[in-house]
Parts: sequence; structure tokens; C-alpha cells
Amino acid sequence: MKVISYMKFTRFLFFCFFLFLFFIPFITFATVDPSWTTPVAPFQIADNLYYVGSQDLASYLVVTPKGGILINANLAISPSQIRISVEKLGFRWKDIKILLNSQAHDDHMGGAAEIIRETHAKNMVMDGDVSVVESGARTDFLWTSPNVPGYAPSHVDRVLHDGDTVSLGGVVLIAHKTAGHTRGCTTWTMRSRIPGEPAKTIRNIVIVGGVSFWSEYHFVPTAAHRVSYPGIAQDFKHTFAELRILPCDIFLGAHGGYFGLLEKLRLYPQKGPRVFIDPKGYRQFVVSSQESFEKELSKQRADAAH
Ligand SMILES: [Zn+2]
Repeated sequence: MKVISYMKFTRFLFFCFFLFLFFIPFITFATVDPSWTTPVAPFQIADNLYYVGSQDLASYLVVTPKGGILINANLAISPSQIRISVEKLGFRWKDIKILLNSQAHDDHMGGAAEIIRETHAKNMVMDGDVSVVESGARTDFLWTSPNVPGYAPSHVDRVLHDGDTVSLGGVVLIAHKTAGHTRGCTTWTMRSRIPGEPAKTIRNIVIVGGVSFWSEYHFVPTAAHRVSYPGIAQDFKHTFAELRILPCDIFLGAHGGYFGLLEKLRLYPQKGPRVFIDPKGYRQFVVSSQESFEKELSKQRADAAH
């Protein structure tokens, strides 16, 4: 009797071991980049603009006399980190009236449902990303890819279109549709003063939505697959044309890595928010991103011709 149960137990251990082996690839995928969750102390960028995100997942708080606007809810596990940052700055979580985003992927909208539940903020989303947000990524053109995890869906209160403005308490943000990375990827711009500069010096602030792609993005149809979505290559081209003409003094984006957040933060104690004045860095970012897109497009065209 004892022998049988021992054998059963050994078999059970083996079963567990194989189960573990089977799940290893999924476990690897589920691992989140630590820079996405490592907090940074919140800081001021402009008179009414603050950074409340993590080392790499940017989240911005726009403060107005009528309440706050939050850009990016980040991952499903991010809202508590964002909330701590907002409160550390002396603002109230419940004063957030509007939630905006850079793009409908889980690293920017995963926490949206929770933030909306807690703050009752109005959820405003660019037209191409509305169904993605409302389905928790199930309608994303890359859905079922492990690179596009699902997240809690949230209802969209206002559908934005290219060039729309979002206003609250006298502060105006402009939504630029810079699609391709997602169908409604949004670059936000606003004008504001930098603390320490003369009252009359108003700076152009650009928060880049995202321009990256990976091997699952198909810009050209082949015998093996269709394009990721009809018009994706044209969207990317339009995005770069748009980003090239946007006036930019303060360079920001959906990921800290876009604009060298951590490197610039090291100089923040001496230079203050002026460290984010980087029109040259912005141009370089746009030019090199466009170059990698054009290169990939040519490569896909050549592959399709074979
Ligand atoms: Zn993304």
C-alpha cells in the first residue's frame, strides 16, 4: 500500500515537472520589464504638467483649476503606483476628471478600468483605438500575439478624431492621430511655461504616442499573410510626416526610453525641468524612427516580390 502511494507521488512530481516545462515559454512572456514597474519620484515638467509614471511607462498629470487630466493608465498593476505619485505631489486622485492615452496597448491602458472606477474620469480615446479599449485588446490587429496581452475593457465616453482638442479649466491639449503602432495611436501636444522661465516664454510640449513595430507587423501583403490592417503603411507615413512638422521644445513620450528620461533625470537636480527642452533629440528620434520604418518597408516589399 505504502509502495503504491509512493509511486503515485513520484508520478505526480513528474507530472508537475512536465507541466512546469510546458509553461516556461508563457512564464517568460508574462515577465514584465522591471523598468515598467520600478517607480520614480514624481516631478514637475511645466507649470501644469507633472510626471507620475514609472522608469519607462510614462504617465502624465495635467493639473487645472477644474481638476486633473491623466495621460496613460499603464499596466493593470500600475494604478496604485500612479496614485501614490499623484498624492505625493499634493494632488487628489479623485480630482482626475479625464483619462487620455497614448495607445491602446496593455502597457498604457491596462490600468484604465480601475482608474475610471476609482476616479469616475471620462475616458477619451482616438477613433482607431476605441474598439480595442472597449474590448480590452481583443479587437487589436495583433490579437492572440503574446506581445499584445488583453486587459480589463473600459467604456469610451468621448471618441476623439485627429486634431481634436481636450479642454479643462483653461488648459488645452491637442490630439494628433499618429497611427500605425496601433490604429488610434495618439501624440498629445500642449503649450505651457517651464518653471524658472519668464512668464511670456511659452513652450511647445510633444508627448509622442509611439512609432515602433516588430516582426508581427506586416506592411506589405504576401502569399503567406495579409497586411496587419488595410492602410497601415500609409498610416505610418502620415505619422512621420505629422511628427516632422510638430513644433517641439519639450520632448516627451509614452515610454521614457523614447526621450531618454532616466539620463535626463540625472541632470534634473541641477537643471530642473529645463532638462526636458530637447528639440534636437526630438528631431533625431523622428528621423531615426522613420528610417527604420522605411528600411523595414523596403525589406518587406523585396520579400513580397520573390
Ligand atoms: Zn504599444
